Amino acid sequence: MTRKADLATIARETLRHAYAPYSGYRVGAALETESGEVFSGCNVENASYGLTICAERAAAAKAVSAGHRRFRRLVVATERDRAAVPCGACCQFVAEFGDDTMVYSVANKETLSWSLKDLIPHAFTGSMLEREAGT
Ligand SMILES: [Zn+2]
Repeated sequence: MTRKADLATIARETLRHAYAPYSGYRVGAALETESGEVFSGCNVENASYGLTICAERAAAAKAVSAGHRRFRRLVVATERDRAAVPCGACCQFVAEFGDDTMVYSVANKETLSWSLKDLIPHAFTGSMLEREAGT
């Protein structure tokens, strides 16, 4: 099992690969799956801003692409003093695979943690797509 400190190191190393020419806000993420494997990601910005992908979603997409569906911990790292809170899109995206993932955010002067359910207590789920009688 990967220690949280190791995940933070991986997230910090990965943020060096961030592509953030517009915001200059580089983010790295390390996601530990239920089986203990770790997938990293960085933010990838685009000149068409809406296409930007956050580090958290990049890591989750890599994990899912490798066949993983359950996550134990997600560590987000920035090179700023204040810790970043994952955006709503990333919380929704990761919640698709369970809302019991622990989320940590590390920065130069601050470390924060939450359960994913704390961050998005009412995530949209697949059960909401089930047809109701008469529809
Ligand atoms: Zn995000």
